[in-house]
Amino acid sequence: MMRMTAIERMAENTDMSHAILARMTEENPDHEALKKAGKILREGGLVAFPTETVYGLGGDALNPESSKKIYAAKGRPSDNPLIIHIADRESLLPLVQEVPAAAERLMDAYWPGPLTMIFRKSEIVPYETTGGLDTVAVRFPNNRIACEMIREAGGYVAAPSANTSGRPSPTLASHVEEDLGDKIDMILDGGQVEIGLESTIVDFTEETPVILRPGFLNQQMLEEVLAEVRMDPGLESENVHVRPKAPGMRYRHYAPKAKLAIVQGKQENVFARIRQLVDEGLEQGAKIGVICTEESRAEYPKGEVRCIGSRADDRTIARHLFEILRDFDSADVDRIYTESFDTPHMGQAIMNRLIKAAGHEIIDADTE
Ligand code: AMP
Ligand code: MG
Repeated sequence: MMRMTAIERMAENTDMSHAILARMTEENPDHEALKKAGKILREGGLVAFPTETVYGLGGDALNPESSKKIYAAKGRPSDNPLIIHIADRESLLPLVQEVPAAAERLMDAYWPGPLTMIFRKSEIVPYETTGGLDTVAVRFPNNRIACEMIREAGGYVAAPSANTSGRPSPTLASHVEEDLGDKIDMILDGGQVEIGLESTIVDFTEETPVILRPGFLNQQMLEEVLAEVRMDPGLESENVHVRPKAPGMRYRHYAPKAKLAIVQGKQENVFARIRQLVDEGLEQGAKIGVICTEESRAEYPKGEVRCIGSRADDRTIARHLFEILRDFDSADVDRIYTESFDTPHMGQAIMNRLIKAAGHEIIDADTE
């Protein structure tokens, strides 16, 4: 009898409508599984894979049919463009019309890494991948599993986050399985991701580079390299202290099933207000979730209290945000109250996601 490979056994043992699972680490990649993933991608299939930011849902970026499949699997609106992932810098050139000198400098500093850059696209990039735009978003991820898979796939993998549209982005392979297990061909499980929030996006198609999405690389880190970079004004209006005037800007995203509100203000006021809100909820017979930090855990004796990380290292907060939001879905809570995280390094990125998840529901503990 022919001996089956581990992958073939997995394929045989699983329901055909279910994704093949392959577990590995960056230190010890499963080359056989990565070859298989590459083959699936070259043949137009979909493979979810780990990156240093969040899990991506990959398809062949130069195949319009693959991109259509990505949108269908996620339930994503087809005008929301995908990011093309490459595994070396040279692969950028065929995708774009030109690379400004400022972009080269940013690449020198932060590629491979959690940085996506937007350029004017070349003809080889299908509009199905760019959501109809003449521009293309490109990233070189800093993850050995991702890069080997991209090379096996032929060099160009379009990948948005591997979640159902509107849900929190996946930071564990189990999140991908939960959302997409029966809709895609394969999931590469590389364990928990390092950063936990999506890449910083910088647009190079205007005179001055513009930050379209904050991430691990914050404005200051970009300014260290670029002469000038500005924030997309649409982001500024999402500042904790200013509610955007346009109702369209108040959409929910990364949304947990329960209603989520951010409580901000002086520390003691925040603790007291959250305790009060928990008490009120419990009196009404509701199940109330609280998101706290290691520093504040002792402040909350009641409710479903989850510690997100430590303010002393805000990377721990970023890493666990989406996981905690998903956790509360399984815990079936009715309402969630969270502290605000305006921390120095990742505060901007954390609050950008948290405010979207909360649908801009912000409670001011100092005045209200
Ligand atoms: P996701 O990987 O799921 O976070 O989705 C990719 C993000 O990149 C979305 O927010 C897109 O709107 C954004 N994006 C991708 N391509 C472009 C582009 N050409 N112009 C502006 N934003 C883009
Ligand atoms: Mg996404």
